[in-house]
Amino acid sequence: MTDTSFEALPLAAPLQRVLRELDYTIPSPIQAQAIPLLLQGRDLLGCAQTGTGKTASFALPILQAFHLQPKGPSARCCRTLVLTPTRELAIQVGKSFTTYGRHVPFKQTLIYGGVGQVPQVNAMRNGVDLLVATPGRLLDLIEQRHVDLSKVEFFVLDEVDRMLDMGFLRDVKKIVALLPAQRQSLFFSATLAPNIVDLARTILRDPAQVSIAPETTTAEKIQQQVCFLNRDAKRPLLEQLLRGQAQASGQKLTIVFSRTKHGANKLAKSLCASGIPADAIHGNKSQAQREKALDRFKKGLTPVLVATDVAARGVDVKDVGLVVNFDLPNEPEAYVHRIGRTARAGAEGRAVSFCSEEELEFLREIEKTIRMPIPRWDDHDWHLETLAQQHGNGRRAQQVQASSRNGNGRSGRRSSGRSWGRR
Ligand code: AMP
Repeated sequence: MTDTSFEALPLAAPLQRVLRELDYTIPSPIQAQAIPLLLQGRDLLGCAQTGTGKTASFALPILQAFHLQPKGPSARCCRTLVLTPTRELAIQVGKSFTTYGRHVPFKQTLIYGGVGQVPQVNAMRNGVDLLVATPGRLLDLIEQRHVDLSKVEFFVLDEVDRMLDMGFLRDVKKIVALLPAQRQSLFFSATLAPNIVDLARTILRDPAQVSIAPETTTAEKIQQQVCFLNRDAKRPLLEQLLRGQAQASGQKLTIVFSRTKHGANKLAKSLCASGIPADAIHGNKSQAQREKALDRFKKGLTPVLVATDVAARGVDVKDVGLVVNFDLPNEPEAYVHRIGRTARAGAEGRAVSFCSEEELEFLREIEKTIRMPIPRWDDHDWHLETLAQQHGNGRRAQQVQASSRNGNGRSGRRSSGRSWGRR
């Protein structure tokens, strides 16, 4: 809980104005801690996941610099470089800067793969204030001498844990080697595993550290449940859950996670065939297809999105009320990222995980990572008590009492309300 208001932070008038327009009154914990440090010019090591308001925590101080020290950018250069693991996140970060910076004149562009490079090269010709990029394509354009990093003043590495999971360590190191020594660096990661801390040490200078524990998000704002069942019961339970969700919450959106691209396609098709409008996003879809699917999802035209982990990264949709783990992820951190797609900006959300026999080990790893047992939701037609017993959950986990059989079970572990956000 923080009692700082945005007005108490030394942010310039055009930023205060946009915050008023957006109706942001109370900074989120990461904003309250990081913004003053960044305004003093400190490097920052931030341990926070998406959904905590971290984009504004770095965008506002950077925009403040653009406002206070406006400079015409040099050809092919950028004043700020934000590196993100995926194009979706790059687009999202770019949009956030556009929103927060609407009263600050600055030029920005995005660089990511999967689309033609010519517009990106043209956009860099005269230089920009802000460049948001994914590592692979950025390196391509640097090697072709279309981008020059020698004038970077602010360097932001976003979602570093994901970046490393996706195999970008070498690319990131190559990019860092091209940056000037004199710069302010910001490093954000949802977890601080030893390899991540090692990387941070090579990039940051005497950093301030800000940590927003993921437990706050997972334990308090998201109602988590696990269902024990046979693998072939997953589809009928999903349908029942989605029908219940549609009745209970009208417009609320659902993201269903599948482990494979093929599984995501199959599931979206079978949901459509059962009269539940659904779409799939995954790495095999073109950028245009993904953007179209996301747009339809945000508008509520297809209220169910079936996604793989990589594709869902950076999807920032406020009205996601339910996340279903149709397959449990084999990396426990992915669970935290997945359920962080709901309960954005202090809203409440629900995350239901399906666990079949083959996935018991994944569930154990997840519970170790989040340091709590996930409450059981047994009150459905496909509950498999033997599996629940096998997990050993029967003795220690809190039994979740479902209010009905249509999927509206509510556990008692909810927070009383959000401590940051809009009025
Ligand atoms: P992020 O963690 O940066 O992806 O932000 C999560 C969501 O919170 C975004 O939709 C932001 O628009 C929203 N948000 C960020 N900061 C605030 C704030 N102080 N008050 C209300 N909403 C916010």
